Amino acid sequence: MSKYIATAAIRGANNIVEEADQLLQKALAEKGPDTPVQFPNTAYYLPVVYGFTGMEVSKLGDLPAVVEHAKKLLHPVPRGSLWTPYLGEALDCGVATLFAEEAIMGMKYALGEQPEKLDGHSELVTAGGEGYCNGPIDDVQLRAWGIQLVDGRMPGFCALIGCAKSNEVAVQLVRELQRRNILVFLSGNVNGRSIIHQLLEEGVELGYDTYIIPFGTDTISTIYPLGFATRSGLTFGGLKPGQARENLIYNKFRVFASALALGEIDDLKYATAAGAISYGFPAIADTVIPEILPTGVTEFEHVISMPFDDIEGKDDLERAEKLIQKCIEVRGVKVQIAEIPIPVPYGSAFEGERVRKDDMRVEFGGKKSRAFEYLRMVDPDDIEDGKIELVGPDFDEFDEGAAMDLGIVIEVAGRKMQKDFESVLERQIHYFLNAASGVQHIGQRDIAWIRINKMAADKGFRLEHFGEILYARFKGDPWNSIVDKAQVTLITDPEEMKKWLELARGVYSERNVRVAGLTDETVEDFYSCTLCQSFAPTHVCVISPQRLGLCGAYNWLDCKAAHQINPTGPNQPIPKGENLDPQLGRWSGPEEFVHQHSNQAVEHVTMYSIMTDPMTACGCFECMVLVIPEANGVMIVSREDPSMTPAGMTFSTMAGMFGGGLQTPGAMGVGKYYLTSPKFISADGGFNRVVWMSSFLKESMPEEFKAVAEREGTPDLIDRIADEREVMTVEELLPWLEEHNHPALTMDPIM
Ligand code: SF4
Ligand code: ZN
Repeated sequence: MSKYIATAAIRGANNIVEEADQLLQKALAEKGPDTPVQFPNTAYYLPVVYGFTGMEVSKLGDLPAVVEHAKKLLHPVPRGSLWTPYLGEALDCGVATLFAEEAIMGMKYALGEQPEKLDGHSELVTAGGEGYCNGPIDDVQLRAWGIQLVDGRMPGFCALIGCAKSNEVAVQLVRELQRRNILVFLSGNVNGRSIIHQLLEEGVELGYDTYIIPFGTDTISTIYPLGFATRSGLTFGGLKPGQARENLIYNKFRVFASALALGEIDDLKYATAAGAISYGFPAIADTVIPEILPTGVTEFEHVISMPFDDIEGKDDLERAEKLIQKCIEVRGVKVQIAEIPIPVPYGSAFEGERVRKDDMRVEFGGKKSRAFEYLRMVDPDDIEDGKIELVGPDFDEFDEGAAMDLGIVIEVAGRKMQKDFESVLERQIHYFLNAASGVQHIGQRDIAWIRINKMAADKGFRLEHFGEILYARFKGDPWNSIVDKAQVTLITDPEEMKKWLELARGVYSERNVRVAGLTDETVEDFYSCTLCQSFAPTHVCVISPQRLGLCGAYNWLDCKAAHQINPTGPNQPIPKGENLDPQLGRWSGPEEFVHQHSNQAVEHVTMYSIMTDPMTACGCFECMVLVIPEANGVMIVSREDPSMTPAGMTFSTMAGMFGGGLQTPGAMGVGKYYLTSPKFISADGGFNRVVWMSSFLKESMPEEFKAVAEREGTPDLIDRIADEREVMTVEELLPWLEEHNHPALTMDPIM
């Protein structure tokens, strides 16, 4: 490591630890040692400190130990004439810096000074509130991204720290990252000006939905991304707090992160970078600095200097693109970009973008018009590959803000295509169209609702581009292994619309009947999903027609299609074998498969019981089902619910306890739609056992639960199930259930 950088980092570390110490004295004097120290909506305390040392900081009085620990890691600043440092010293100081920074943020939360308020930017709405920076990413969001990080759709994150050369460059940097589905984390400033200001001035939408998270305009808030990295090891990697070395190794190989320092670098930035380097995250600077060559701590170079104006390129936008390219190469990330011939940026980072009424050029479906989408398998000779046809007028013939009818018909052919896959493919339309910047897609089938914003229309986006997107995506990886030919027809002509809509509706109801008829008894094979083993090595999802994967992303048909697409992939058919216990849902096939593929960690597994050999849980379940013995029933907490539950734990706490590939009788992670299955814990009494459920679930699936209640013979069951609005403890739960005469109270004992 160059002496210059090492010296700066060591100096920065000494200063920030000193600052933490002083702030701590002040905070203790003002607020007292029992004042709570807590990052909001996370179960991991101060995550970097927790991950490295196992210390559970929850109040100001816990912080002196952290600051002491940081002090021990410090080294003196090398004197001018001496030249012996120093990677080791600088890295120790880097870790000390992270501890000090996290302690400072903990104190600031205790003092009400975090998250940071951005004056004059009420348009900024984040998890931190309206007009506030985000603060730490909450556990719910970490998990929501989890599955994408697991399956590689989201390659990693890039922290942009400081201030870009111009607003235009700032926007370009972010767009290049979004295009590659890389999470963008923002922090820091140069002389008071931050890339966060730059992006807000350019009207870029920041927040979880667009994958761009503004943490704060100071350097210290760069600690939040490192907390995020630490928590992903704890959440998905089955790592334990205090396993500092394992956590760093995990991050080095699993979490593809890099930092891009924009503008001048001061001592604190060097010190923070030294901390990030110990995670294996390299830093790239757009200014002239001495470089650090590979030594093995990071996989490639540690620090790279790429002075912005020296980058070859015809203009700043091209230079920005190359800079991002470098960040990605340095980290060794393989990123695929879908090249789609449309006039707007394209990538899943745009999926969450909304089109508000005022920005809208045209809409299809919703309240004022109708839109449907229908994908069908046809004979290869009946279609022309790549043909995109618009039947009827385009939207530029209509006024701004118009509502139009639209039908999207996709016809595909392929040797490995099956009728069953139509619905699997059709569901992709939502993701494919949403990924275009300026397009919002909601719903499916004949309740689709699509909006296009004015910016996209001004750039020349037209209906034919829906066709371009759909064709390119279905003919791209991985779908091209089942789709050999595809043709797209876009229909706005009223007569044609009517004809096709009727036809599509007929098919939708045929499909409904067919899916309802798909039961665990009627199929030969279940499917495995072992995608999450990269994070939770003993976890196997067994997926049957009546029980989908616990993340909610894969049902039986999806797995069947995925197996066709990739025969050696994570979704393998599991022949059911002998039915050992129909009540519990125990088959010889799944038992053997799970035993073998869990590294022999799991001996037995059942499909329908939470008490007897339940399925394992990785980190990404949509809901947690947990037995409440006192109530003779179970509670169901959804990922979206941050509140306290009668079990005395929040969702995050439970996820930490029961995830990571463990099998825990009495606890089970499940996908939402399993709750509505007749096989939902049927061995333990079924849905009538549910005594408490997050209100989010009740409100987001009212029709589905109504049907379940009727099927289970207690039509008003949902009203007799408590939720967090009235009941937060087990003491409150029992009288509430008696008052509402809940059926579980008179059922056989659950344990
Ligand atoms: Fe992970 Fe199971 Fe979802 Fe597969 S189905 S991605 S193993 S949670
Ligand atoms: Zn998982």
